[in-house]
Amino acid sequence: MKIKRIISLLACAVVAVSAAGCGSSASSGAADSSPDKLKIVCTIFPAYDWVRELTKDSKKDTEITYLLDKGADLHSFQPTAEDIMKISTCDMFVYIGGESDKWAEDVLKESVNKDMKAVSLMEALGSDAKEEELKEGMQGEEEEEHGSEEEKEEPEYDEHIWLSVRNAEKLCGVLCDKLCELDKDNESAYKASLESYNKELDKLDGDFKSLTEKAGSKALIFGDRFPFRYFVEDYGLDYYAAFVGCSAETEASFETIAFLAGKVDELNAGTVYILENSDGKIAQSIIDSSKAKNAKTAALNSIQSVSREQLDAGENYLSLMRKNYETLSTTLG
Ligand SMILES: [Zn+2]
Repeated sequence: MKIKRIISLLACAVVAVSAAGCGSSASSGAADSSPDKLKIVCTIFPAYDWVRELTKDSKKDTEITYLLDKGADLHSFQPTAEDIMKISTCDMFVYIGGESDKWAEDVLKESVNKDMKAVSLMEALGSDAKEEELKEGMQGEEEEEHGSEEEKEEPEYDEHIWLSVRNAEKLCGVLCDKLCELDKDNESAYKASLESYNKELDKLDGDFKSLTEKAGSKALIFGDRFPFRYFVEDYGLDYYAAFVGCSAETEASFETIAFLAGKVDELNAGTVYILENSDGKIAQSIIDSSKAKNAKTAALNSIQSVSREQLDAGENYLSLMRKNYETLSTTLG
């Protein structure tokens, strides 16, 4: 695999640079031109944003890197050589630990930087991580042919943990602990930031709770992938969707479209949801196949393809979840 080769080549490069450093005045550790700087690398936007929130009042010179800032979808992202170099020389690396950033584990295996704190968010969530669910009407992924029965598939966990505001609170707590371990001097600043950020998360959670409690319809119909499982379970909502959250499928079968169109009729749904950046074609086919044909599409943001431009425009986890709230408040009948 190409990526593995890049990783091992880079691991060698890092060793070479570190070794060269021993002869000079450089301090121990990996290739690091500014040892006082706290370097944190995050794969997904929510983690980047949480770390940014938690470190905002710390006195420490901190550099936070968001790897997916080109707006690439999480599921198709592959790190560049430069990205791998950044990870190999950072103090803390935050990744999901799920299906789409499996490459991170290869990078970590090859890394010679043993001082680095690697935080897998899925691991941090522990038993709150849920298995991926193939729901009624959903189109399964085309399975690769398996030779023998022995090759039992491990359960795949749903990695879209950040779409639960309650998970966000837990994960921010874990990130805060790691920051305190790395930089004791600013412990009180990290803890104060966590406390004030948690208040905002609590407020948003409360708003979602009251919105969904008074909603007439308790089911979301998605003409798309469905990464919102943690979210709907927090508020007791049901859902129907074309594909599981990490699916690479882009074409829905006749059966899937017909099933979802039937749900639109049965639930008298006014909305078929899509994800950000979706062309909405599947959702439109569902609407066109329903009896009334008058449902509208509405997009919810899965916060997995946030670009540098959105970031520069001031978007953050709370603002994007707040937009989801606004969308739901006008579409949940
Ligand atoms: Zn995914």
